[in-house]
Amino acid sequence: MKKPLRTITYGLGLLFLTMLFITSGMAQHTKQTYSRQDSLRGSITPEREWWDLVYYHLDIEVKPKQKSIEGSNTIYYKVVKPGKVMQIDLQQPMKIQGFFQNGKELDFKKEGNAYFVTFETHQEVGDLHFLEVAYSGSPRISPNPPWEGGLTWEEDKKGKPFIANSNQGDGASLWWPCKDHMYDEPDSMLISVKVPDPLMNVSNGRLREIEKHNDGKSTYHWFVSNPIANYGVNLSIADYVHFSEMYQGEKGPLSLDYYVLKENLEKAKVQFRDVPRLMRAFEHWFGPYPFYEDGFKLIEVPYLGMEHQSAVTYGNGYSNGYKGKDFSETGWGLTFDYIIIHEAGHEWFANNITYKDIADMWIHESFTTYSESLFLDYHYGVLAGNEYLQGARRIIRNDGPIIGDYGVNQRGSGDMYFKGANILHTLRQWIDNDEKWRGILRKMNKVFYHQTVTTVEIETFLAEESGLDLQAFFDQYLRTEKVPIFQYYWKDNKLYYRWENTIANFAMPLKINQSEKTYWIDPELGWKSTEKLAANVAIEVDPNFYIYTQQIQAIK
Ligand SMILES: [Zn+2]
Repeated sequence: MKKPLRTITYGLGLLFLTMLFITSGMAQHTKQTYSRQDSLRGSITPEREWWDLVYYHLDIEVKPKQKSIEGSNTIYYKVVKPGKVMQIDLQQPMKIQGFFQNGKELDFKKEGNAYFVTFETHQEVGDLHFLEVAYSGSPRISPNPPWEGGLTWEEDKKGKPFIANSNQGDGASLWWPCKDHMYDEPDSMLISVKVPDPLMNVSNGRLREIEKHNDGKSTYHWFVSNPIANYGVNLSIADYVHFSEMYQGEKGPLSLDYYVLKENLEKAKVQFRDVPRLMRAFEHWFGPYPFYEDGFKLIEVPYLGMEHQSAVTYGNGYSNGYKGKDFSETGWGLTFDYIIIHEAGHEWFANNITYKDIADMWIHESFTTYSESLFLDYHYGVLAGNEYLQGARRIIRNDGPIIGDYGVNQRGSGDMYFKGANILHTLRQWIDNDEKWRGILRKMNKVFYHQTVTTVEIETFLAEESGLDLQAFFDQYLRTEKVPIFQYYWKDNKLYYRWENTIANFAMPLKINQSEKTYWIDPELGWKSTEKLAANVAIEVDPNFYIYTQQIQAIK
């Protein structure tokens, strides 16, 4: 059952992986050499570039006993350049049975996880075609979900299957054949999953139909009416119980649907009260929830959680904090459920505004981690958000640049979480106008609505909207691991100061507190002095700036 195509032109994506890298102890940014497979996975190859994704119909049966999947993905695409060979990705041990177009089976070559299909008919620029890909196999079992991708096959307390996917970074091609690169997204997608009764499958978008078969199985058809990134496609299978509520938001009524194990229903009804709370805070700061048409769902899974678009998954144990912990050690982190707030924050930064290349994953994680402090700011006041971010600096490592290597599916340092959040918080101080800052965050979600983006686009946008020259600021904080040091000393009743440990052209004004008064100064790389401040009276750099401060001996 092919559904009518929608023509929204942008693609976009997803996410959450979150904290993950910080706490899992994975080495995440060791410089390495890259293979041809890395380039095939991580770059826009000529065999990807000539066609634009329009629509996917993923139509599969999941067999819990065999831990296997079989079915097809039908790929609708538009020809945007001359081309004849198409790259489709599917990772071993999954296998493609065949590629079909116009009723004919097509020839293909396989190179690792990349399949190259050769078309027989002319692919005229501007034409719309579809290709059916039949496949099957037992996908990799996730060794450590959600950080290392694959399927998770667990059981609930009654011994019924409890199954889920997580595949950010490793790629959706772990379990279904697709164009496994983030730059391109289908405008819409139908996800049809057949499971044995009484299990149900919850995917993204809205449940269009439950098709009952006479073999004791049912197919759940979920339609996503917005662009969606590969890694955001969700598969959650269990004997779920469902409850829901309506939220009156900026764009009108929004359905909030919850799917949890029966044994956890009462706990979920309490814990999930964070959902309307986050909607209020995030719509205030970022603008309307970006997927009203697809609703919002929170789905219990047997791993920590992931920002699957409009189908956020949850496994934080129905307790506040991150598995009960507060990264900031200020207490503020225990006032909300970390996974609910963080993963849902990704609806704006990951699912609405999506990186084109995982090297730019900070666009997802820095803004989303920062959103945690804005949640606190909205509900408990600006000081709560400030304290939270300052407290969480304890887990910043400064072990490498936040931006990763391009074209090889390589993310940057795990500092993209809390250091990234502190960088944005520092920028907010520099802008020094919270309503303007909020306007920028809201406009950003409008300008890049349902798009895939690069770091440069985000930097340019922030510089234009703030009216500040931010190039050196971003170069320093995103492209090196060095934290600027504000050095100062007193001499002849004057304060002498400069920046240290920075790139050559670094410049950022700084707010100084002294005896309950506030002063702005403009440190540069060379020594400057001011007589604005009272001589030899202790100063404090505004702690909201993420920098180091060092008082040194007076230079003769
Ligand atoms: Zn995240």
